[in-house]
Amino acid sequence: MTMYGYAGKILRLDLSAQRAIEVDTAQYRSWGGGHGLGSALFWDFCKDKTITDGTDPANVIVVTSSPLNGTLAPSAGRCEVVGVGLNTHPVHWYTRSNIGGRFGTMIRHAGYDAIVIEGRASRPVWVDIRNRKVAFHDATDLWGTDSRTAQERIWEQMGVPRDVKTGWWNLNETAEEALDATTDQGRTTQRPAIMTIGPAGENQTCGGCLVHDAGNVAAVAGFGGVWGSKNLKAISVIGTGEIPVADATSLLRARAIIKEKYTSDIEQPDFEAWSKIGKQPKLMAMVSPPTDEYRPQACQGCVSGCRARYSIGYGHETKCQVTSWYFAPSRRVAKSAKELVEINLRAADAAQRYGLNTYFALTGLHWLEHLVEEGVLGPGKAIHSDLPWDKYGTLEFAEKLVHALSCREDIGADLADGWVQAAYKWGREDDLRTGHMTFSYWGQPEHGYDPRAEVEWGYGSILGDRDICEHCFNIIFTNITASFAFAKPMRIGAEELVSIISEKLSPYAKNRPEALDYSDENMYSEDVAQLVRWHRHYTRFYKESALYCDLRWPDFYNTNTPDRRGATASEDAGEHVFWNAVTGDELSFEDGIELGRRIWNLDNAIWTLQGRHRDMVKFAPFIYETKYEKGELFPFFMWPCRDENGTWVYRDVMGRTMDRQKFEKFKSTFYRLEGWDVDSGWPTRTTLEDLDLAEVAATLDAAGRLGKERSS
Ligand code: SF4
Repeated sequence: MTMYGYAGKILRLDLSAQRAIEVDTAQYRSWGGGHGLGSALFWDFCKDKTITDGTDPANVIVVTSSPLNGTLAPSAGRCEVVGVGLNTHPVHWYTRSNIGGRFGTMIRHAGYDAIVIEGRASRPVWVDIRNRKVAFHDATDLWGTDSRTAQERIWEQMGVPRDVKTGWWNLNETAEEALDATTDQGRTTQRPAIMTIGPAGENQTCGGCLVHDAGNVAAVAGFGGVWGSKNLKAISVIGTGEIPVADATSLLRARAIIKEKYTSDIEQPDFEAWSKIGKQPKLMAMVSPPTDEYRPQACQGCVSGCRARYSIGYGHETKCQVTSWYFAPSRRVAKSAKELVEINLRAADAAQRYGLNTYFALTGLHWLEHLVEEGVLGPGKAIHSDLPWDKYGTLEFAEKLVHALSCREDIGADLADGWVQAAYKWGREDDLRTGHMTFSYWGQPEHGYDPRAEVEWGYGSILGDRDICEHCFNIIFTNITASFAFAKPMRIGAEELVSIISEKLSPYAKNRPEALDYSDENMYSEDVAQLVRWHRHYTRFYKESALYCDLRWPDFYNTNTPDRRGATASEDAGEHVFWNAVTGDELSFEDGIELGRRIWNLDNAIWTLQGRHRDMVKFAPFIYETKYEKGELFPFFMWPCRDENGTWVYRDVMGRTMDRQKFEKFKSTFYRLEGWDVDSGWPTRTTLEDLDLAEVAATLDAAGRLGKERSS
């Protein structure tokens, strides 16, 4: 029977034995794809789920695609990576990362829905996958190269003949093979999609990313460092297989509706539209490029590419925080806007080449500045550093810092194992109390959206495994705050906004706008707990398993439509509509949320086996002990709240602390609603069996880590 939307096979790469094994996807079909598929594969193939060190050879990394990759589902061309990461504190949790570009789709053209990476190679290797043919190659000569050089060398080494006249890649090894329909491997206009690591990964640093093409990175989880520990330099994939789609007519119709109804008119683009899917192509670099000569660039299937390739030859495909990680220091020294832009784009390029996650630096530089100002960091100081601190803000300093962090040199020797870990090593843990080091959750840096203000982001991160980096509700803050900051009229009033959004929060908070009230009085309420549940379950399925792009989904409210309702959960072009058209399933929007709940519970079972207990689930002390004050990026933090009279208003929620006791109570509410043991946060047998996870319950029981049932 055709499994619409699936390639049909999963590839296991045993690096220790240099062996490739195929598994049928059919047995994992109930997990959907992406993260859900990855967690199920991790559960089955990681034999020791108690490991808390990503570099343990027993660790298993899964790179997964979605049935939607390579179809016309809009902005659903991402790729999910799961496994035990490297960058959390106090332990390395089972975690996730996500990467755009072509890789997720190309896996499927090559015949696979996921790649499971196991063991450790005895020497550096790269893996060549072409239409279900797998070869392991020596990568000794590639070790030490940056992420771009590595890809270019692999393209050269591959020996895939490229027809110079047509630009097509011909996958046949001989002319005879090409002439026989039963052996013909096909041709493609795509060049091989390569995922690789740079020096930051090779040196097993917590900042090691997986890099693909010029600027696609799986950054936050430290999986580049895990690949480094496995001696895996790169995986190259190319294929010409088809992706079977169940109902192409419905798929085309829904895609047309997205373009016609939910997006701005291309002739009259509305760059300030309060919508996500409806954004027209617009560069998201925090700094505008110093040239108008560029081509928009997008992940496969995206309706609104957000990156570019420039005629200047640098800054390609890079955007958002990668182009701004060095902005604060550089703007103090740059003598012109042009110089400022050049420093930042070149600093971004340096990080991409080294394969270094810049989130740590974006936030951590404020802390390093504080240490320099206090006189404890620098040449000959208590924390010795030979970096040219007198050139802080220049490109030279940025490049030396990237090198040090990637190669475990200078302060990078300590920071490579985690910035919070370094704070303890340097005797600076008090900086987590004073707020000089704004690393809020699991040793990870603030993303700018502080838990004291944007509570669903903070709660989601601490109840999960990492900085969630999920901009679902976050667009509320960015739109309102931008309008407020630039004195532009609000395009939607607070009451209308929360009403529209809450219509889409089925099943937990449908038509309960209080779920979005982040006022001091409501931020620990059961309504907000229901919102956080919805968010955890929605993202686990729709964003991380179906692999809809975080920047484009969910589309709650949309100023392009007459009724201001966005595409999310709609019956004409909602997330589930595309899923059903591709797979032939008959999922309701809520069925997708329920599948997300199943995936989220499996993840919690893995964290529980890794040693998690509710006592560990707490923010860094500064979140409770200091006020969230005006920062470099945001002088205020506007959010819809009910005022003293019960009227919805936009209010600045900056300037408050989180209350420890009230947060503990919030956790209990959340655990109760999830059906987890309130005392430990562990899943219970009843909850797991309800989700058809009896085997998971049995494993937890055998490990003595099954949650207690609530007495009625
Ligand atoms: S919005 Fe940007 S990151 Fe998202 S799918 Fe499109 S190109 Fe990729």
